[in-house]
Amino acid sequence: MGKVYLVGAGPGDPELLTVKAARILASADIVLHDALVTPQVLALLSAKARVIDVGKRCGQKLLTQEEINAYLVHAAGLADVIVRLKSGDPLIFGRAGEEIEALRNAGVEFEIIPGITSAVAAAAAARISLTDRRFASQVLFTTAHRKGGAFDLGWARTISADTTVAIYMPGSAYAELANALVENGLDPQTPCLVVSRAAQASQQVFRTSISALGNLNGIAAPALLIVGRVAQSDAESIATDVWHQLRNNAEQDTQQIT
Ligand code: SAH
Repeated sequence: MGKVYLVGAGPGDPELLTVKAARILASADIVLHDALVTPQVLALLSAKARVIDVGKRCGQKLLTQEEINAYLVHAAGLADVIVRLKSGDPLIFGRAGEEIEALRNAGVEFEIIPGITSAVAAAAAARISLTDRRFASQVLFTTAHRKGGAFDLGWARTISADTTVAIYMPGSAYAELANALVENGLDPQTPCLVVSRAAQASQQVFRTSISALGNLNGIAAPALLIVGRVAQSDAESIATDVWHQLRNNAEQDTQQIT
């Protein structure tokens, strides 16, 4: 009987994998991966591995969640090292709960190898701290989930102004999402960041506010939306300000001396 590893592939850059994840990938016999796992990470798989893309593409499901659960259990009878590879961290919005339950019910041995979740990768890309103590005291990981076509943003009514919100799967209808955030009580002036393809070669970071969010068009997926006061506190610009201040002071000093 083999062992199943639920492995976090991180946001895309293979250098952001854990050492353990890289080791398990190199020894895997069977790999089931999501569509968001990058080719650079898949390149670390051994040539002998049987690789199955179980992800969704263009809304077309290749395998249902039940089929994936059943296949993981089945695969444990076929090989030694089975990897369920998910983008980011396997336990954050990754439907790992159902897979863990299926493995547990079937008595299959399994282990979870965490990965860098995209909220964390997006913050690094934008060079901001999600918990910058000057602006935030808590972080909410959530999604722009839709219920019957409309956004289901009940969480927005319960958060304080010092909450940083990381919105996974924001979709591409940013104007509609911005309206829904305001309807649910958020201040239109709240700063936002949209980070597209964090930790990938084509990474892009857009700084905006909820009221101007709708102007963003054609953002490449996957993208993550960060909402909150930390989004304005660009560490880079603060560092630049400090640098200018030091330089101005130095110039003033010089002027005073001469
Ligand atoms: N388990 C993953 C999340 C899966 S849900 C994690 O921990 O990151 C899929 C969503 O994750 C995408 O819609 C997008 O919002 C986000 N995402 C995944 N990879 C990303 C990346 N490289 N850059 C920005 N967002 C990403």
